[in-house]
Amino acid sequence: MHADLDRVLFREDEIARRLDTLASEITTDYMGKELTVLAILNGSLIFMADLLRRIPLPLELDCLRVRSYYDEMESSGQVSFDRSALPKLADRHVLLLDDILDSGQTLAAIVEAVREDVKPLSIRSCVLLRKIKTRARPIEADYVGFNIGDEFVVGYGLDYQERYRNLSVIGVLRKP
Ligand code: 5GP
Ligand code: MG
Repeated sequence: MHADLDRVLFREDEIARRLDTLASEITTDYMGKELTVLAILNGSLIFMADLLRRIPLPLELDCLRVRSYYDEMESSGQVSFDRSALPKLADRHVLLLDDILDSGQTLAAIVEAVREDVKPLSIRSCVLLRKIKTRARPIEADYVGFNIGDEFVVGYGLDYQERYRNLSVIGVLRKP
């Protein structure tokens, strides 16, 4: 799998160090609050597991399965998820977790749906990666692991046609 990468952007130890800092910021901000983490699957699965084990708060965890349709390596802008699958979180502070902020359409659609349907006490978002680019939807995340250029990346939960999620590093996929 490594051979399919053009280059590695973040090694395992670099990701781990960044998660230490990110987790301690989140821990400080949510101390004493009723926190529910809403993780967007599948992409955030590995990030979620590593991040949450660094947050020593009595948080609750829910997951939302979301598909954003990709035409090769470009977002099609279609985001689909089951709104009726959103948990009841009216008395909770919600932190959305996603793997990567690209066009912004996924995060924007979920934030909108959660605000309208669930009306939580607050909603913020945390992404492992944030692409530096002009977004189709002008949304930003409250917590960001790493800023990257506008390139297609895989590994550490991120896939290309469902492969590479189990790579321990994050890297740029070699062009075919
Ligand atoms: P957005 O809706 O912000 O365009 O994209 C969000 C979703 O698209 C992410 O949750 C992720 O699943 C997918 N995505 C966006 N950029 C990349 C990328 O560079 N690599 C991979 N593997 N997935 C991406
Ligand atoms: Mg994906």
